[in-house]
Amino acid sequence: MNNDNNTILGFDVNLICDFFLNTERQGPGSPEVTLKALSFIDNLTDKSLIADLGCGTGGQTMILAQHAPGKITGIDFFPGFIERFKKKEKKAEKLNLQNRVKGIVGSMDDLSFEKNSLDLIWSEGAIYNIGFERGLKEWRNYLKPGGYLAVSESVWFTDQRPAEIHDFWMSAYTEIDTVPNKVAQIQKAGYIPVATFILPENCWIEHYFTPQAKAEEIFRRKHAGSRIVEELITSNHREAELYSKYKAYYGHAFFICKKRILTEKVSE
Ligand code: SAH
Repeated sequence: MNNDNNTILGFDVNLICDFFLNTERQGPGSPEVTLKALSFIDNLTDKSLIADLGCGTGGQTMILAQHAPGKITGIDFFPGFIERFKKKEKKAEKLNLQNRVKGIVGSMDDLSFEKNSLDLIWSEGAIYNIGFERGLKEWRNYLKPGGYLAVSESVWFTDQRPAEIHDFWMSAYTEIDTVPNKVAQIQKAGYIPVATFILPENCWIEHYFTPQAKAEEIFRRKHAGSRIVEELITSNHREAELYSKYKAYYGHAFFICKKRILTEKVSE
């Protein structure tokens, strides 16, 4: 998890999750970007096993289920998100996906998959919870040789940046780094870095920040007069303002990685 107190930027994780129950997504992304990342993955068949870690309410899981063969298990720590996911499973029945997609409550740092069993691990905007390097290392064990890991993660676009945005990120997620440094970590962890691309701005604005207005309304009604809720909303607004002010310095990138098979010991 992010830290010992189960807080993000000082707010109780449960409160944050409750807020994001009412949003379209719980992190930057879009259906188009999910499909773009999927287009780099070429090993899937009807027999494939796929895990979506930190799936949230399952928006991208359902996109995957509609466009990739195989069975998909979405895993999230927060039961409220999985409940919402289950409602989507009902819709999946109509699309004839019911035997191919399911959501379960679980933790990305304690997975119950067999070692070397998964063809693809997906994780949009969630690996930060375990930490990028730790996730790369631990999740690799569950992939078949040649299996894929597709993750999206916050990145710096420049080597230097203004103190205000640097300090904000150091209080939120110290592992944010430049794309070349992340790619080097991928290589070092035993993957081939197959593709990397930066998410377009609409993934932040249209799909992440703008839908929060509706969630704010619902949340204010539910917790009328709560100081902590007002503080959370103010903090979310600050995040959106910082993004519009400093989007030349940071964003979100997708990394598509393939588990490397080493036939001989090499020094790295
Ligand atoms: N993939 C979704 C959600 C991203 S937000 C999207 O892109 O919209 C990050 C998600 O990670 C949240 O749903 C949060 O509940 C989940 N999460 C946090 N810690 C986790 C853990 N230890 N194991 C599994 N999921 C976790």
